[in-house]
Amino acid sequence: MADNRVVQGRMVTPKKLAELVEGTSVMDAEPISDADRDCPECGSDVLTVGYMPSVTEFITGYKCQDCDWSARES
Ligand SMILES: [Zn+2]
Repeated sequence: MADNRVVQGRMVTPKKLAELVEGTSVMDAEPISDADRDCPECGSDVLTVGYMPSVTEFITGYKCQDCDWSARES
């Protein structure tokens, strides 16, 4: 996939970004996009990724590009 992004200095795939948000492995993830919000911790840009932690669940994850902040919405 060509939509890998840099998060906290590391290149991550959509699936890897979803795993950072979820804290565990995920089944599938959609392409990463820029979220229309700033990080509440450090003010940096936030990325968003939709992913499926299991076959019956869809989560929208948010992750700061520069610090540990993340959030998930189902
Ligand atoms: Zn941040």
